[in-house]
Amino acid sequence: MAHVITEPCIGTKDTACVEVCPVDCIHPTKKESSYGTHQQLYIDPDTCIDCGLCVDECPVQAIFPQDDVPVEWRKYIQINVDHFKK
Ligand code: SF4
Repeated sequence: MAHVITEPCIGTKDTACVEVCPVDCIHPTKKESSYGTHQQLYIDPDTCIDCGLCVDECPVQAIFPQDDVPVEWRKYIQINVDHFKK
């Protein structure tokens, strides 16, 4: 399982989550050239260790454990996965 970034991140991209993630699995960061071309941030499910530290850092409550993603935002589980397939 992994944590998932959902719709409230769109247009927000605060990146406070990036600063606290111990395994650097939230991308793109502000240091990456692709930061400006994505409308939200994503969590790499293969690297996330489910520590939960990012959840409280998010100012718009966009991050959930996969099993707790609200029904209307379930599509973001796959959206996060797909980002890291490219
Ligand atoms: Fe990183 Fe932990 Fe959040 Fe996973 S749950 S994205 S490991 S801070």
